[in-house]
Amino acid sequence: MADEENPFDNLREQIDDAASHLPADVGDDVLERLKHPERVLETNLTVDMDDGSIQTFKAFRSQFNGDRGPYKGGIRYHPDVSRDEVKALSGWMVYKCATVGIPYGGGKGGIVVDPAEHSAGELERLTRSFAKELRPFIGEDRDVPAPDVNTGQREMNWIKDTYETLEDKTEPGVITGKSIENGGSEGRVEATGRSTMFAAREVFDYLDKDIDGASVAVQGFGNAGWVSAKLIDELGANVVAVSDSSGAIFDEDGFDPESVKEFKNETGHVAGYDSAQELTNEDLLTLDVDLLVPAALENAIDEDLAKDVKADVIVEAANGPLTPDADDVLRDADVTVVPDILANAGGVTVSYFEWVQNRQRFYWTEERVNDELEDVIVDAFDNLTHAYETLDLPSLRVAAYVVAIQRVVDAYTGNGNWP
Ligand code: GLU
Repeated sequence: MADEENPFDNLREQIDDAASHLPADVGDDVLERLKHPERVLETNLTVDMDDGSIQTFKAFRSQFNGDRGPYKGGIRYHPDVSRDEVKALSGWMVYKCATVGIPYGGGKGGIVVDPAEHSAGELERLTRSFAKELRPFIGEDRDVPAPDVNTGQREMNWIKDTYETLEDKTEPGVITGKSIENGGSEGRVEATGRSTMFAAREVFDYLDKDIDGASVAVQGFGNAGWVSAKLIDELGANVVAVSDSSGAIFDEDGFDPESVKEFKNETGHVAGYDSAQELTNEDLLTLDVDLLVPAALENAIDEDLAKDVKADVIVEAANGPLTPDADDVLRDADVTVVPDILANAGGVTVSYFEWVQNRQRFYWTEERVNDELEDVIVDAFDNLTHAYETLDLPSLRVAAYVVAIQRVVDAYTGNGNWP
């Protein structure tokens, strides 16, 4: 990862890049508004450790833009969480929700912590402490958090319970990504990987390429990466390489993602799986494959690495995996990139379905969730390719931002400016 790349600068560059292609001039004053979060909560959480000591953790929640609806976005637990990272991720949520047309603004939160170093009890106290700080800022019509890197149903249940206890009411729609028993939705856990699969299927079709038999490398084997690998494999593609922070594995005959997942569940890593050849993460990202799916963290591919990328198509399951310079290199090399704000939007789309179900107290079947998700992603993809062709745009990323910025600006203009 290129440490010198600040994801918040990258976001602002992406907005500027797209703004120059908007059919009608938006004006620098309005554009400026789209490049800053409306507010950022920064807090320090003091938590009792199991050994009797206390430890202080820095945490953030950025509410980037609420023109199209309540702020929406995940909460990440990672030692590299920073104020600028959270700001960038909250901005990407704005444009992601707008790209797929769901009625939310964008937000994001994070705690600077390595969860692997803490017991479940410590993580519960940390999570509840953050929930207490978030309480005045969140709510089903205000800001609706969700899972992100290293958080899942368990943490979402704790946040919901803390919020509901302090507020003395039930409000399951205050947070999404909960367990089914606690008001979660069928299909939410797999949703990010499922939209990545739909995006891969649609772009191969668009390019007249066959996904059946295509070779695929997946960087990252967390929830997004592993489900993407499984579902893309089910389309008949051949997943020849996968990786996690322990390293990468390669087999030209392809892996059974389920079996790699079982191995990772037992051992904690993919390295050492069967008799697979071991590679570095960089080797994986530069493999000569038909499809590359970065599914880890931002800035996985920088300008230098991009020059060595040999994949024909990239579908971004992670948020911000290409730096803007890498994006330029790949654009010049005619690599088709399906941007994060479409490809991984399945997570927030099924979060939206969960929120709708929570508010109606009426729950859908998994089949209905998956069908409605497919409709949203396929429609959004068609919309992007339409904008890409009719406006003669340089890339699908620019097309996504052009569509999304226009939607946010239209909402802002309709709302007006007050006070
Ligand atoms: N963290 C996910 C994302 O980056 C999901 C957000 C949500 O469900 O609100 O899109």
